[in-house]
Amino acid sequence: MSGDTIFGKIIRKEIPANILYEDDLCLAFSDIDPKAPTHILVIPKKPIPKLSDVTTDDKDLLGHLLLTVKSVADQLGLTESGYRVVINTGNDGGQTVFHLHLHLLGGRALGWPPG
Ligand code: AMP
Repeated sequence: MSGDTIFGKIIRKEIPANILYEDDLCLAFSDIDPKAPTHILVIPKKPIPKLSDVTTDDKDLLGHLLLTVKSVADQLGLTESGYRVVINTGNDGGQTVFHLHLHLLGGRALGWPPG
């Protein structure tokens, strides 16, 4: 179910990651190259390459991913200060790992617009 990317390897525990949360549908772990004091990735276990590949069948899963981001942000004490959720999609979106993932960024005031 987990696909053949670096994130598939993390899901299958073939390579290590700092996992903060896991359930049947998703996994949250620290980004290896953090762009903010807190930088967490939330990924589905289903190997969807990118946001543009989702279908209406994924509606509940997408809701679950967002609720997981909210819960992890709360667990990390970001709710009061705020945070950003990013999904890079495709080449122009800056996506480098083709397994859908939500970036949770926080712990400092983030600039806008992104580069
Ligand atoms: P994106 O550019 O949106 O595809 O984001 C991919 C993210 O995955 C980047 O922020 C990377 O730092 C992160 N990343 C790549 N390999 C790993 C890994 N082994 N463990 C944790 N994060 C990773």
